[in-house]
Amino acid sequence: MTTPSRPSARAQRPAPAARLAIGLTSLALVGATVAGPAGASSATAAPVASFGAAASPAAVATATTAATAAPAVSAKPSTTVARPGARVSVTGQLKSAQPKTAVSLQRLHGRSWRTVASVTPPGTSAAARAYTLRVPTSAKGRTVFRVASVSNGGQRVGTSRPFTMLVGAGNPKSVGYLTTPPARWNPCSPVRYRVNLEGAPKGAAADIDAAIGQIAAGTGMRFVKVGTTGVVPGSKGQDVPDTYPKGTDLVVAFARPGDTRPAKRSAYLTKGSDIVGVGGAFFEPTPQRVGSGSWHRIVQGYVVLDNTKKLPTGFGRGNSTGLLGTWGQVLMHELGHVVGLDHPTVSDPIQIMYPATTSKPAVWGAGDLVGLQRLGTASGCFPAARAATKSAAMSTDKVLPLDRPDH
Ligand SMILES: [Zn+2]
Repeated sequence: MTTPSRPSARAQRPAPAARLAIGLTSLALVGATVAGPAGASSATAAPVASFGAAASPAAVATATTAATAAPAVSAKPSTTVARPGARVSVTGQLKSAQPKTAVSLQRLHGRSWRTVASVTPPGTSAAARAYTLRVPTSAKGRTVFRVASVSNGGQRVGTSRPFTMLVGAGNPKSVGYLTTPPARWNPCSPVRYRVNLEGAPKGAAADIDAAIGQIAAGTGMRFVKVGTTGVVPGSKGQDVPDTYPKGTDLVVAFARPGDTRPAKRSAYLTKGSDIVGVGGAFFEPTPQRVGSGSWHRIVQGYVVLDNTKKLPTGFGRGNSTGLLGTWGQVLMHELGHVVGLDHPTVSDPIQIMYPATTSKPAVWGAGDLVGLQRLGTASGCFPAARAATKSAAMSTDKVLPLDRPDH
């Protein structure tokens, strides 16, 4: 990602096509980090994963079958992507033999459901009763809803399939993916990250964690901070996975371009350039089928930021002079690459994945949210068996490095 200075905010070079270099490296190194407790982790993550599954019919079916075999209330949102403040409604049918049965729109908050609106559809018979509820769109981001019905006597009648609302500014078609088919992590296993704060600006640690939180919210994935590290991604070159501490999938580091210490110099950063940060991932070259889709599986991620760039911390509009943007905006952008997003094919400066920093507040746009949703839990889990059978199979496997030297 580049950081233009005012007033040349929009004078960016076009987003380059993703470059796939063939630097083949044994996956045994990184394979070890995705093995181990993957099975146990995915078990604990399952409820969250399934609730975020609105875009995946197969996953939704699994979730609702487990929760309610025969929902007595259906729910169909008028849209699942909206601009902030847009009028969105959910309609459906209630089937209940009891009169005065209410239906409630509920929002998933952590792992519990909170009611945000209720209505009692007219009618007293067991015939289906239609209802309409307004879906709130004031808060930007990704929210999972469902409709629940409770009879007058307090008896639960049923719950609808959950659905996901994406509320963001700009063009929802402004989205791009790093590879074809897209590369994504197994969203049902936590991504374990370390930070390298050597030479980092003050406040960087909090910004990293907050940006990770934004990625988690957009994808439904879990991230676990496992500590700090001295590793600088790219110290071995652009096309070579780095040797991370055991049990680490992702490193977010600050570095100085042209550092004379080989272990601290990242091939991703160039001295004197306007590149403020680079993010990317290594993934398995052979796609796997998951549900109805085919995906490359990401096994290692990296973010390297130029610590000589003078950007303010936080997620606001940034400075009124000097470089545009904030560290928060840059971190969200680079972490977007880490989970498989590219610069949008349809340019829209309001999107975080736009290739240059701007003076916008760092909030996911509509296109960002569409991409994150597709790459996250909504598209289902990779088979857990893959990680469990690692060594023999994986040591002969290869990874394709994916680097984004220009952003
Ligand atoms: Zn970028």
